[in-house]
Amino acid sequence: MDDCIFCKIVSGVIPEAKIYEDENALAFLDANPNNHGHTLVVPKIHAKNILDVTEDTLSGIMPAVKKVSKAVFEGMSAAGLNITINNERPAGQVIFHLHIHIIPRFTDDGLKVWTRKTPYKNGEMELVAEKIRAAFHTLM
Ligand code: ZN
Repeated sequence: MDDCIFCKIVSGVIPEAKIYEDENALAFLDANPNNHGHTLVVPKIHAKNILDVTEDTLSGIMPAVKKVSKAVFEGMSAAGLNITINNERPAGQVIFHLHIHIIPRFTDDGLKVWTRKTPYKNGEMELVAEKIRAAFHTLM
């Protein structure tokens, strides 16, 4: 992907504050962090997001997600971590190369992650579950 900024980072064209690298994944600091130490793990193979990535590419980067999480937690003396993937624009995805956010959390750091709840009405929960279960048939 010639126009993908994360592919350029993977290929070394654009320098980043690299944290970790293995054969499948690269991890570097987010330039606009939610907290200091906010790190991104990306697959070296381009994939748009979780809806697009192959299972092999996704599973290939998970060992790096585990290692980097531990290093961010220890290195930043964090009290917790949020690990998130934003998929598509309404969910906040800005760079369309899959990236897993590892965000160190500190006691009372003021970062709000889930600020809204949408309760189910009577019977609605089973209808929603059925819609999602039915969608598995399109994946086979
Ligand atoms: Zn890319």
